[in-house]
Amino acid sequence: MKLVALAGGTGSAKLLRGLKSEIGKFTVIANVGDNVWMHGLYVCPDIDIAMYTLAGIADTRKGWGVKGDSFRMLEQMALLRGETWFRLGDRDLAIHLLRTEMLKEGKTLTEVTVFALDALKVRQRILPVTDAPVETRILTKEGDLHLQEFWVRRRARVAVKDVVYKGAREAHPTREVASAVDEADKIVICPGNPVTSIMPILAVDGMQTLLASSKAEKIAVSPMIGSRPFSGPAGKIMRALGQGTDSVAVSKMFARLIDKIVIDESDVGMKGKIEELGVRCLATRTAMNNRSQERRLASFLIEA
Ligand code: GDP
Repeated sequence: MKLVALAGGTGSAKLLRGLKSEIGKFTVIANVGDNVWMHGLYVCPDIDIAMYTLAGIADTRKGWGVKGDSFRMLEQMALLRGETWFRLGDRDLAIHLLRTEMLKEGKTLTEVTVFALDALKVRQRILPVTDAPVETRILTKEGDLHLQEFWVRRRARVAVKDVVYKGAREAHPTREVASAVDEADKIVICPGNPVTSIMPILAVDGMQTLLASSKAEKIAVSPMIGSRPFSGPAGKIMRALGQGTDSVAVSKMFARLIDKIVIDESDVGMKGKIEELGVRCLATRTAMNNRSQERRLASFLIEA
């Protein structure tokens, strides 16, 4: 089966690890909306967490970076009174240096990612949804913030007014993304923050048309349990946008694009409301707190 997974960061990475155990090869289409320039380097958090996870070197406790990394560069940066709110480990720095150098030589983000995956002996493909710049901006009471400034620097403690995907309308899915979607048998939307991880993928001009024209079965995994996300600021952001914060709200966001959604078994009472939207609803345990739960959910999706 040709499986394609639309992925954000930490929540998605756990499912990717489960999928790796269950089917081995697949293609990840990664969010680029949280990419950020830091100290002159181009950092791609969602591509990197997927890459490190599939390479078996991710720091799974923190949910970002390389396991066992040190932070000597940041100590020195603090001495120099440079910015240290965005944590970059010493080993982690290598990909950002290499990527920035290759981009400056004229390579695309897709080419750089293929190169790094090959070097790290990752057998799965990770494709940035687009090679064009897209930035998720959080419009707050205190101004327009990059997602990383909102989430990491301000710890999501600012009131949200709106979210925009800057550059998405001028961007296009890459050729590689278009053919992966076209050839897929199954497309999984991983559990990710619907507004800041999944929508920036879907907001890229042409992406929704690509998905709609693909014959693949499309199935999403809800990142919500009850009326809140498993983790992160999705609830706060969705509330601010006037949306609900449960699996019904997530189903509404994706209804036009998906055939099925997997929700947590404790939310099975929402099934009726979800199916009224024309989406088939499957309930199972969706928490991934260990490797066996990750594998179980992955295998459920493969069978579903
Ligand atoms: P971020 O870029 O780190 O915010 O990454 P994501 O958007 O991919 O991941 C965070 C989302 O994943 C949140 O909305 C969480 O609710 C969801 N999530 C985290 N852990 C789990 C889990 O074990 N199961 C499910 N179903 N969702 C999860």
